[in-house]
Amino acid sequence: MADLNQNYVGGEWVSSETGETFEVHNPAAPDETVASYQQSSAADAAEAVEAAADAQDEWATTPGPERGRILRKAGTILADRKDELTAMLVEEEGKARPEAAGEVQRAIDIFHYFAGKASDLGGTMKGSSSRDTTLYTREEPVGVAALITPWNYPIAIPVWKLAPALAAGNSVVIKPASAAPGVVFAVTEALDEAGLPDGVLNVVTGPGSSVGNEFITNEGTDAVSFTGSGQVGEMVYDQATDAGKRVQTEMGGKNPTLVTDSADPAEAAEIVATGGFGTTGQSCTACSRAVVHEDVYDEFVDELVDRAEAIDIGPGLDHEMGPQVSADELESTLEYIDVAREEGATVAAGGEKPTGDAVESGHFVEPTVFTDVDNDDTIACEEVFGPVVAVIEVSDFDEGLNVANDVEYGLSASVVTDDHTEANRFIDEAEAGVVKVNEKTTGLELHVPFGGFKRSSSETWREQGDAGMEFYTIEKTVYDN
Ligand code: NAD
Repeated sequence: MADLNQNYVGGEWVSSETGETFEVHNPAAPDETVASYQQSSAADAAEAVEAAADAQDEWATTPGPERGRILRKAGTILADRKDELTAMLVEEEGKARPEAAGEVQRAIDIFHYFAGKASDLGGTMKGSSSRDTTLYTREEPVGVAALITPWNYPIAIPVWKLAPALAAGNSVVIKPASAAPGVVFAVTEALDEAGLPDGVLNVVTGPGSSVGNEFITNEGTDAVSFTGSGQVGEMVYDQATDAGKRVQTEMGGKNPTLVTDSADPAEAAEIVATGGFGTTGQSCTACSRAVVHEDVYDEFVDELVDRAEAIDIGPGLDHEMGPQVSADELESTLEYIDVAREEGATVAAGGEKPTGDAVESGHFVEPTVFTDVDNDDTIACEEVFGPVVAVIEVSDFDEGLNVANDVEYGLSASVVTDDHTEANRFIDEAEAGVVKVNEKTTGLELHVPFGGFKRSSSETWREQGDAGMEFYTIEKTVYDN
């Protein structure tokens, strides 16, 4: 296996010009160093952009089916390494083994899906007002795509940008999040082994403020695809737009599940618990607000508390819920819990760092349920990004819908109801890019578009499915006389 702690530029494994590295520690056992990576600079990033620009023409003119063959083969190589990559994900990011295995499988599936899309690219023949003119449109790559990704899905998110970018004929520079970059190097090895030409993919680790910033502002990049926090994403959007680049930003969420009076409280609690506590609450689509009709409120809270308290917390290889990714993320969650208490909410479950040998030193926090939450409390408004669900009581469906929509984000929203009219009203009126009926807010299928409303996304572009290809493709109209 290639040396994991080096950058990959122009087909070579290289060290940063800074001579510095940073370490990644196991979030379940922070004394354990998992790997170290290059603490790269803007100059390293600029070299990667140059390598990508040099490789762009050849890749753009490589026939789509050939590009697809390489993607398909890379997916198959990753499938052969699935157990190893699953363990790597658990060690670096901390998620539970079944979640990690599911994420690796998703990355494999994405490669295979976009391998097919590469062959489908072409254009459309049109009628012309002149009999001598052959008139058609053709789809071309945008150029060099800069990908900046978060740590919470360290393989799935990079791959859901990388696969369509490569399928469409773009060369790529990517900066994975520093908390869990390892699996992106495994993807790089797979693509290299599958025959991707040198320079088409370049990977540089290091700070967003130097590496990420250079990718966005360097004249050699043509498109920027970012997933991460709103705070960074909005800055990235402005910078990339000012530099005249095509840009998409996927950001945070404060996703509600509306529980109506026709809902079965136990079923609703199951939906909220799996959406809220899965991946330790560290999903952009995590359910962090349960908006519950007063008639089913007490029973729902009892059922949700039972589920929160039954979750087996510990290192992800052997337990149901792993740690948070870092000390900073844990501290942030514990601070949100303190603020919620101070603002008058009641801890109905969890609310502490768990104790015991298996969890003492890791970045663990108990699955937490707050009741007596007001809609304008901090815990009801801001993204926590930890396993914390705020339960808000409402007296009818209209109030519930208003509360569900009353946040600055609009990524995913679900309703639990037995009433078809309510379900249809929710589908019509929920202000979210993904709307679900009797399902958890998390979980996405790869062949349909994904993106949010309001501050969750820049709304122009979507990811995944055909929409995923559109961002990396530009149309040319040809009049051939
Ligand atoms: P983050 O914003 O801190 O970092 C995301 C990436 O941006 C990282 O690679 C980081 O190094 C880089 N970055 C930081 N500063 C930068 C700068 N000045 N210029 C360029 N790049 C910079 O986010 P995170 O903590 O890694 O991820 C968690 C966040 O991601 C949450 O808010 C979550 O909701 C969001 N998220 C959104 C989606 C979605 O599809 N909407 C999916 C997953 C995660």
